[in-house]
Amino acid sequence: MMRILVVSTPIGRLGSGRGGGVELTLTSLVAGLLERGHQLTVLAGEGSLLAPACAAAQLWTCPGVDQPSWQHQNRDAAITIPADGLLPRLWRRALAEQQHFDCLLNLAYDWLPLWLTPQCQVPLFHLVSMGSVAAGIDAAITEVAQWNQGRLAFHSHVQAADFALAAPPRVVGNGFDLAAYQFCAEPEPLLGWVGRIAPEKGLEDAAAVAAQLGQRLAIWGLVEDPAYAAAVEASVPAGCLDWRGFLPTAQLQAELGRCRVLINTPKWNEAYGNVVVEAMACGVPVVAYRRGGPGELIEPGFNGLLVPADDVGALAAAVVESTSIDRRSCRRWAETHASRAGFAERIEAWLMADLTKDGPDGEFGGGR
Ligand code: UDP
Repeated sequence: MMRILVVSTPIGRLGSGRGGGVELTLTSLVAGLLERGHQLTVLAGEGSLLAPACAAAQLWTCPGVDQPSWQHQNRDAAITIPADGLLPRLWRRALAEQQHFDCLLNLAYDWLPLWLTPQCQVPLFHLVSMGSVAAGIDAAITEVAQWNQGRLAFHSHVQAADFALAAPPRVVGNGFDLAAYQFCAEPEPLLGWVGRIAPEKGLEDAAAVAAQLGQRLAIWGLVEDPAYAAAVEASVPAGCLDWRGFLPTAQLQAELGRCRVLINTPKWNEAYGNVVVEAMACGVPVVAYRRGGPGELIEPGFNGLLVPADDVGALAAAVVESTSIDRRSCRRWAETHASRAGFAERIEAWLMADLTKDGPDGEFGGGR
């Protein structure tokens, strides 16, 4: 049994959707590790709520101003921390309490926790949630990798390949509570798209496909960039897009399952793509660009189709072709590759590999 302190994202409170896929990842990771008999404490922004599956975990919260998201800054931007920032408050608490834990597990894609790694008395691990978006973070990840790469894990190989690492990466994928996603055998003539409504998600390409095919596109997700959402709406005929808002998982999966296909159009090196697997768990095939995590999750012809990045014509053709995919194989793929139990096992194996290794770093509590 390990006592693990999980430190959440410094963007938004858990349950708000502002943390993107990290929120669901945290739920899966905590619930999965609890099931394996570990003791979990979650440290997150004020107002955070833990999912019922994490009820046995302790929740500590801190007030503070959100970090600006790295996705929306220049690659060479300086490291900034706002006055009254949440990030340093989370880490002040984590450092003050570290002796009560066997390890700390950071889910924030940010400089401060990476930089703190060799300074911590208790082993500090990082599940890196994005590919390369900023030079300052790249350098911090490389420094940790050179010091002890055992402290780093990634969601996909293509994400990890963005960074200069010292050794082959530890790739843990992701995991989902598949019992929460209902298989839907009979879809409606509806296209689906799920994600934060922000330019790096490429919603405009899915909208163009819907307009070209004359089919309705249902859209779920938090509007992060209202001007961008308005521009996408204006780019297609009225009534083509059906904006459904940001829904909790139970409702999202019930609606998403009715789609014939999910269109996934990342414009960046998406680390994993939670929504890709969530769709598959409902039996919905996924048509995506061959880019980032989705390129690794989709087995063309089995659970979806891949097309060259940014090729809207090929995307439309693949959406038409996707009717031939067996919805049951999509669900099967999720069960085989992305269960919560499997994810928790992989996370545990990663932590244990470093915590039990020989040398000055070995055994619980070792620093370096
Ligand atoms: N999501 C949700 N409700 C919605 C739309 C999205 O809960 O209506 C969640 C979805 O379950 C997923 C996350 O938002 O976990 C998006 O994560 P993803 O990895 O696809 O992208 P990110 O936002 O992290 O870049």
